[in-house]
Amino acid sequence: MNKAVFFDRDGVIVKNINGEALTNPKDLELIPNSIPFIKKLQKQGYKIIVVSNQPDVTLGIIDENTKNALVKKFKELLYKNNISVDGIYYCFHHPKGIIKKYAIECNCKKPKPGLLLKAISDHNINPLDSFIIGDRASDIKAGYLAGVKTILLDPKDLETDYLLQYNVKPDFTVRKLSDSLDII
Ligand SMILES: [Mg+2]
Ligand SMILES: [Zn+2]
Repeated sequence: MNKAVFFDRDGVIVKNINGEALTNPKDLELIPNSIPFIKKLQKQGYKIIVVSNQPDVTLGIIDENTKNALVKKFKELLYKNNISVDGIYYCFHHPKGIIKKYAIECNCKKPKPGLLLKAISDHNINPLDSFIIGDRASDIKAGYLAGVKTILLDPKDLETDYLLQYNVKPDFTVRKLSDSLDII
């Protein structure tokens, strides 16, 4: 069985732009520190899996073309930085969405664990040897439900409330990504 590190995308690998939605692929940039970090983990034998909620298309904030362009841009940036990840899993759903195929109560929108469970099955991953790194309480809850160890990255104040609401605690909290190297 394989070991893996699951990464939330926005705020962990991709720069957040002041809490605003990414509406232009030009604005999608990697967080520079994430690149050597991912490479180190790969050297240690971890599979790298990205798990990301992207409801903006069904919320009407971006159109399908832009959604696809953003997906493509992320892949291109990884490729340009010589990172080949083992899987990228998106949830495009939202129960209040306006696009029928995405407007469902799915099993994969974090805090639900569906994206992780799919990857665990696809890549023969042992959750007990694996971690998730995310900046939101929903990442921590999804990781907890999937049975992986959870690392909360530089949380905003609001996340404390969500952690209480989800009745979950991160196994570790770190200020910056590289601090996770002492844990993993
Ligand atoms: Mg995030
Ligand atoms: Zn979903």
